[in-house]
Amino acid sequence: MNLTNANYYSLEANREFMSVSQLKSFLKCEAAAMAELRGEYTRPTTTALLVGSFVDAWFEGTLDQFQQEHPEIFKRDGSLKADYVQAARIIQRVGEDKLFMSFMSGEKQVIRTGEVYGVPFKIKMDSYFPGEKIVDLKCMRTMEPIMGKNFVEHWGYDIQGAIYREVEGNGLPFYLAVATKEEATDLEVLSVPHEHLNQVMWDLKPKIERAALVKSGKVKAERCGVCPYCRKTKVLTEPIDFEFAGLSNDEIKARKGEW
Ligand SMILES: [Zn+2]
Repeated sequence: MNLTNANYYSLEANREFMSVSQLKSFLKCEAAAMAELRGEYTRPTTTALLVGSFVDAWFEGTLDQFQQEHPEIFKRDGSLKADYVQAARIIQRVGEDKLFMSFMSGEKQVIRTGEVYGVPFKIKMDSYFPGEKIVDLKCMRTMEPIMGKNFVEHWGYDIQGAIYREVEGNGLPFYLAVATKEEATDLEVLSVPHEHLNQVMWDLKPKIERAALVKSGKVKAERCGVCPYCRKTKVLTEPIDFEFAGLSNDEIKARKGEW
């Protein structure tokens, strides 16, 4: 199928193409990812996601359309809800910065498809400079490390960079234009070096191949046991040892020493 902005997020597009967010779904919980692809389960849209889309829409110049499609961002009196007032403040702050704005001045929301380890993928680039670079915009709570890990790695933004670079196909440098939702917005343009992306690509091989096998139905989807989908569809068969309470199936297996 030919991907457009109108059908990019459709079920049909998700069935035909893997995306970075779909891959992350598979890595988190294969059963939930498959339920999404069957149209049985939708991940809840969080305010954080919608705030990100608000900022994306502003950069793309489609904020009017976005506001019409998302009446939930307004209060009853027609003014923006606090989260979006904050988003507008972020936009104003990054707008003052020449470097940030120059990195965000590429072609917006450019769709490409291609294969990664033989699996069809779709990508949508926030700010694309053909022959030069790929830039992705991120609105974060903070840029602080999370559980001792750099936020780029914690959230898998390097996975995104590796896949974007691969699908785009010209080995372009990947950057993140980051703004934070803190009281005083922090901002940065981060480069994710090729050597790091190469390592990430290497680590992704078995994960992408496994996700594709599960997606095709050739391998049975594993349940993680702890995500919203697994909780909703859980059927108890027998009591479990109290020490396993609240643990994922992988963690339980690891504790039982089955690895
Ligand atoms: Zn699950």
